[in-house]
Amino acid sequence: MGCSNTTPSSSPTAVTVYPYPHQNGKKTVVVVGYSIAGYTIGEAVWDDGNVVFIDARDHFEYVPTNIKSSVDQGWKDKITVTYAESEQGYNGKFKFVQGSLLNVNGDGKTIEVQLADKRKVNLPYDVLVLATGFKYESPIKTEGVVTITDRKAKLDEFHNQVKAAKNIAVVGGGIVGVELAGEIAFHPQASEKKINLIVRGDKLLKQVHSSAHEHADKFLKEKNVNIHYNTTYTEALKKKEGYDLVLVCDGQRYQAPYLKKSFGSSVAKNGQIWVNDYFQVTAVDPATNGKSAAVKDNIFAFGDICRTSMNEVKNIPSIKFLRQFIAPNVKAVINGQAPTTSIPKKIPVFVAISIGPTYGMYVQNDSVYAAEGNGSGKFSFSEDYIKIWKGAHDVAKGQQAYLESTYADLAKQF
Ligand SMILES: Cc1cc2nc3c(=O)[nH]c(=O)nc-3n(C[C@H](O)[C@H](O)[C@H](O)COP(=O)(O)OP(=O)(O)OC[C@H]3O[C@@H](n4cnc5c(N)ncnc54)[C@H](O)[C@@H]3O)c2cc1C
Repeated sequence: MGCSNTTPSSSPTAVTVYPYPHQNGKKTVVVVGYSIAGYTIGEAVWDDGNVVFIDARDHFEYVPTNIKSSVDQGWKDKITVTYAESEQGYNGKFKFVQGSLLNVNGDGKTIEVQLADKRKVNLPYDVLVLATGFKYESPIKTEGVVTITDRKAKLDEFHNQVKAAKNIAVVGGGIVGVELAGEIAFHPQASEKKINLIVRGDKLLKQVHSSAHEHADKFLKEKNVNIHYNTTYTEALKKKEGYDLVLVCDGQRYQAPYLKKSFGSSVAKNGQIWVNDYFQVTAVDPATNGKSAAVKDNIFAFGDICRTSMNEVKNIPSIKFLRQFIAPNVKAVINGQAPTTSIPKKIPVFVAISIGPTYGMYVQNDSVYAAEGNGSGKFSFSEDYIKIWKGAHDVAKGQQAYLESTYADLAKQF
C-alpha cells in the first residue's frame, strides 16, 4: 500500500493510498468489506470502474466451515488466504487497502478510514458499497483479530479447547449451533466427551422449514448429543452442569457505527443498514417503502449488513442471487444514470446445512432433502472459495451461473 502525495480535503488527513482520480478515466468504486458480498459486487463491476477493496483484516476466511477447526487442526490453512495474495492473483483487477472504516462522511465523496499503520485518513470514492457483514461470538469470529497469524492462533486455541474439554455446552439451536454440535460429535475423542446442545425453544433450525428440525434432532441424538430444549443458558446452569467449555452460537450481530455521524437514521434497530429496492442506502425502513429516496445516489450497501424490503435469509446463495440486481445499479451510477433494476418481491430459500463431515440437508423453499453426503458439499466449497480469492475468477463465474439458474428454478415454485 503506497501513501504519497497529499490532496486537499477535510480533516483528519487526506492522502493518496490509491490513484484518484484514475488516469484511465474510469470512476472509483470503493467496496468496504472484501468478503463474500464485497467480492460479489466488486467482480461484477471491475471492468466498468476502478475497484478498491477496503477491509479491516489482512485476510479472507471462509467462515461457513470454520467450525471444522474444532476437530481438524490443519483446517485453518484450508479456509484462509491473505488479501495480498488475492490482489496478486487478480493481477491489477482491483486494489486492496487494509483499514477500518470509521465514518462515511456526509459529503457523499469521502470516507474516514483508519489504515493498518493507525493513521486516520479521508479516502475518496465515486461510488461506495458498504459490505461489512456481521459480527459473531468467538471463536466463530474474533473481534479485533485482524492478522492471519493471530486468527490462526485463535483457531488453534479453539481446537485445543475442544480437544481438552470433557463436558461441552454448545449454546443455540440455529444453523451454527447444530452444525458445531454435529462436528464435535465426530471428534476422534467424542466418546470421552459429553456434548450438550442448549436450545431456548422447542425446535432446532427455526430459520428453515420445520421438517429440518426432525432430521437434525434424530441425527444428533443418534450421535449421543444431549439436546436440552426450552433451556436458557446461564452461568448458574454452567456451574450446576459442570460445563468445562461453552461455545455460544446465538446468532449474527450487526453494527454500522460508521454511519452514526452523517447517516444515523439509515441504521435499523438490529444494526443493519436500510437499503431501497436498488440497494442504495436510505433513511426509510424498506418494509414500509422499498422505493424511498437514497441518502446519496452513490452509496450502496450489500450482503448481510443490508436490510432489504424482502428481509431475506442471509447466506451466500442469496448474496450471489442478488448480484444481478445490485450490479446494474452500481454500473448505472458509475455512468451518471439513475438505478432502475429493482429487487423481486420474494426470494427463494436455498440453504445447505452440514451435521458432521458428510451428513446434511439441502433446504429448498419448503422442501428438505436430508441424506448422508448432503453435508460434504459445504466443505468442498471451502476449497473453491480459497481458489476464488487466489484469483480463480472462472470458478466464481461458474458458481454464479449455477446459483442464478437454481434460484430461477426455485422461484417458479412461488
Ligand atoms: C458459522 C457460520 C456458518 C455459516 N454457514 C453458511 C453456509 O453454510 N452457507 C451459506 O451460504 N452461508 C453461511 N453462513 C452465512 C455467511 O457466512 C454470510 O452470509 C456471509 O459471510 C456474508 O457475507 P458478507 O460479505 O456480507 O459479510 P462477512 O462475511 O461478515 O464479511 C464482512 C467483511 O467486512 C469487513 N469489515 C467489517 N467491518 C468493517 C469496517 N468497519 N471496516 C473495514 N472492514 C470491515 C470484515 O473484516 C469482513 O471481511 C454462515 C455464517 C456463520 C457465522
